[in-house]
Amino acid sequence: MHASEIRAVLARHPALCAFASRVTDFLDGHLPEPATEEAARPPWLGLRRRAAEAGLTGFDLACAATGPADGCGSPEDRGAVAVVPRGLERVAQGLAMFLAGRRDCDAREVFSTGHGAMALRYGAPAVVRAVHDRVVRGGELAGVASSEPHSGSDLRGLRTVAVDHGDHLLLSGTKGLVSRVEEAAGFVVFCKMVAPDEAAVVQTDAAALRRVPLSALWLPMETAGVLTETAAPLGLRGWSLGHLHFHNVRVGKDGLLGAPGDGRRIFDAHFSGWRLMMALVCLGAATAAIEETMTRARRRSVGRTSLANIPSVASRLGTSAAEVQAATAWCFSLLERVGQDGEGPDVAACSAAKALATDAAYRAVDVALQLHGSDGYTRHTPMEKRLRDIRGLRIADGPNDTLYSVLAQSLLAGSRPSPPLIVAQRQA
Ligand SMILES: Cc1cc2nc3c(=O)[nH]c(=O)nc-3n(C[C@H](O)[C@H](O)[C@H](O)COP(=O)(O)OP(=O)(O)OC[C@H]3O[C@@H](n4cnc5c(N)ncnc54)[C@H](O)[C@@H]3O)c2cc1C
Repeated sequence: MHASEIRAVLARHPALCAFASRVTDFLDGHLPEPATEEAARPPWLGLRRRAAEAGLTGFDLACAATGPADGCGSPEDRGAVAVVPRGLERVAQGLAMFLAGRRDCDAREVFSTGHGAMALRYGAPAVVRAVHDRVVRGGELAGVASSEPHSGSDLRGLRTVAVDHGDHLLLSGTKGLVSRVEEAAGFVVFCKMVAPDEAAVVQTDAAALRRVPLSALWLPMETAGVLTETAAPLGLRGWSLGHLHFHNVRVGKDGLLGAPGDGRRIFDAHFSGWRLMMALVCLGAATAAIEETMTRARRRSVGRTSLANIPSVASRLGTSAAEVQAATAWCFSLLERVGQDGEGPDVAACSAAKALATDAAYRAVDVALQLHGSDGYTRHTPMEKRLRDIRGLRIADGPNDTLYSVLAQSLLAGSRPSPPLIVAQRQA
């Protein structure tokens, strides 16, 4: 089953075969079996550093793979970097995420520039150089800090403020819960940028603050005044989760990504692709769970027959496989279109695809856990960990119910043009 969707992607893009082999070889060498809670936790950050040495941290951005600004990088860089043809970077990233998810959802951070992509795409040259050195070459990790304790789903409601003092900004607020607070080298922070005389007004006038457009900036974690506080999550425990506190943290103006007020554009462009990545991590995990369950169902006798011969068992496995394969195909079809239709990403479809994929993956792993019987309910099999991990990704990067609404609102508003085929049929 694993082969069917991935084989279809590779048949459409044979130039990615060598890349897929490189990722698989890396995983076989460093994470040969799906992770279980019972086994020692893989050294995740160490694996990311190994991936950087193997050229597997910068392939998803043309400039990140080869080096900043001058577009060529050092000869050592060029030798190590995995080869991904131009235009296929997002599809390659999706393949890497799917393959990583087959071993463990926490392996999602091992490959690619991750959230560092925003700093590399929109940062000033000094930021691009620093992020490239640390995140791409050094295998460190970049985080994203959007959510706040009072407002996760509602971006306009964010209250973290960067006061503009000419050559620098003073950042104050609290972010969380956010991932990677202990491991990240830096964060892309979404905030409201205001002039000093506006700062006092927006502190007391929530409606005025809502009207201030979002900005984004790159904040290295060693910046004075950044405090962290961790929480204990249900799943995805390979990486920390917690709060970031800022009190008058001084950030150079060149830390801004894009122009002031560009935050929403940067958020939408990045998260459209990123949501598909998280979807594919979960679909990889679900595919592995279905395959493991098929193997068990063939071997396991129940009375005079095997588990696989019981019609209701086959039907549940078939339903899971159909849902997971359909969601995988949708995610790759959206990734193939990102940046190719000249209109920017289809934010609504990408949002709903993440919701559909993580919901389908969760159902599939739940069926797989059930069909593993009591074994499935222990920390000895990967099922319970997958279930907890995927549960987190039904909330993270946008709660699924919100993401389905994004598609509905877009369809109700008719915000994307009808495909030419339908227009032509109507005109006929
Ligand atoms: C494992 C994990 C990792 C995370 N990592 C990060 C990170 O790295 N960076 C970061 O910035 N954030 C991160 N988050 C936070 C995440 O983005 C937010 O939790 C999410 O956006 C929801 O915000 P909230 O928690 O404030 O929930 P709320 O906004 O309070 O919403 C609660 C629930 O209400 C429902 N709901 C809310 N709005 C709507 C709506 N419009 N329509 C229908 N239903 C709705 C949804 O079911 C939602 O789950 C992470 C969360 C998790 C669980």
